[in-house]
Amino acid sequence: MTSLAHFEALAGSLKLPGEAVIDGKHVPSASGKTFANVGPRNGRILNHIAQCDETEIDAAVKSARRAFEDGRWRKLHYRDKKRILFKLAELMEREAENLAVLESLDVGKPITNALQGDIPNAIRSLRYYAEALDKVYGEVGPEAPDRFSFAVHEPLGVVGAIVPWNFPLHMAMWKVAPALAMGNSVILKPAEQSPLTALKLGELALEAGVPAGVLNIVPGLGAEAGKALALHNDVDMIAFTGSGAVGKLLMQYSGQSNLKRVSLELGGKSPHIIFADCPDLDRAAAEAAWGIFYNAGQVCTAGSRLLVSEAIADDFLDRLLGVARKIVSGDPLEPATTSGAMVSEEQMKTALRYIETAKNEGARLALGGKRTRVDSGGFYIEPTVFDDVNPEATLARQEVFGPVLAVTKFKSPDDAIRIANDTTYGLAAGLWTKDISLAHRAAREIRAGLVWINGWDSCDITMPFGGFKQSGFGRDRSLHALHKYADLKSVSITL
Ligand code: NAD
Repeated sequence: MTSLAHFEALAGSLKLPGEAVIDGKHVPSASGKTFANVGPRNGRILNHIAQCDETEIDAAVKSARRAFEDGRWRKLHYRDKKRILFKLAELMEREAENLAVLESLDVGKPITNALQGDIPNAIRSLRYYAEALDKVYGEVGPEAPDRFSFAVHEPLGVVGAIVPWNFPLHMAMWKVAPALAMGNSVILKPAEQSPLTALKLGELALEAGVPAGVLNIVPGLGAEAGKALALHNDVDMIAFTGSGAVGKLLMQYSGQSNLKRVSLELGGKSPHIIFADCPDLDRAAAEAAWGIFYNAGQVCTAGSRLLVSEAIADDFLDRLLGVARKIVSGDPLEPATTSGAMVSEEQMKTALRYIETAKNEGARLALGGKRTRVDSGGFYIEPTVFDDVNPEATLARQEVFGPVLAVTKFKSPDDAIRIANDTTYGLAAGLWTKDISLAHRAAREIRAGLVWINGWDSCDITMPFGGFKQSGFGRDRSLHALHKYADLKSVSITL
């Protein structure tokens, strides 16, 4: 049965996790402090979460270090690591519906998206790295008559993963799975807005047989728990997804402490270009709408700048608005809902401020622009489209992280590529054309880590994910991510 009543009943019956998972045990914060976890669906408090700080971070780091040093995970046979990670994937499948409800309650995302997207994608990512962990080979050096030299991948040690709230479990798994696959111990710090699935993951990992201390989950505020993790002298790496502002702080913390490695997946202002010879206007319009309105626009790769050729702009915008008007804004636990709440009141207010700024800067409001479902008490915004957005305007330059699309018209392909690149970000880009030369040229000239041609967000765990410029560095996904969690050691034997 998949109805609002079913998911509401499930939500009511679930015990919401609130304690940290450190050294194999569920623990409250030593200070006894908790913070309120507010559900964006209706603005009510879901539960209270352990407000961990440097005390718990230190305990987690010590536990993770002990586990690393005694080799309870690092030295485990690869077949056993694999078996345990596959077991974890099975347990996540067993709990998939519960995990989806937790994600929907915590983030306000439509339950159907959580069931069909977030949770299966997180499980797929885990399986991908579990399958890959015994396929990482070293190198043998060039032959020398008196020497045998080889290079091996060694785990880094203790990895801190700091993740955002938009795809909490999925983003966490992009880091936790490859870091564990390479033999590291991990401390996961979920975002304060969305700790539930991470805490549940900690519980399931213990059930699957991940040894105590190997995966610790420490919830808390960014400026307390996150900062303490990033400043800790015994953490070897911070793998981060989140805002550029925090990314810059993490690099400072690294310099102020032990020069730990830092990998950063930051935001974007991704251009979605519709050239005049777009092969399928309806499909492009549907994907352009999906590219900005999915997850209420709270997607780092959101196609938030639509660049459309003057020659087809009016027709294209009509089609796009047609798709956007069919979006069903509703209760996240209602299976028919296609657009849920924004994660927090603060995030909603930020998006509303950007909408006001866009109006004041002369953009034409073509759709939406208002808060909606106010009676629910939740944080909902209408899918919003601004036309005639000047490439210099705030809406064309700053990341909203909400369901707000900026449409800008261009005259020529060179014009489009120039505007696309006129940004401090470089995460993703999309383009639609029948011209294979233009497709290749634009794909090569656009400075972004991901370029999608004739389809938005069209690749998965098998392909690297990450940014150019201020969208960060280091790659999640694909086999490249495994190398991020290892050092290369050269060993040479004199014969
Ligand atoms: P955020 O940077 O405020 O928070 C992200 C994480 O960092 C949270 O866990 C938070 O607790 C922690 N944090 C905050 N301050 C910290 C500090 N001083 N030290 C250590 N940790 C700290 O970002 P957000 O508001 O959660 O997420 C929105 C941003 O994340 C957007 O800019 C978005 O583009 C970006 N994002 C990027 C990607 C990507 O893959 N590139 C994915 C999702 C979100």
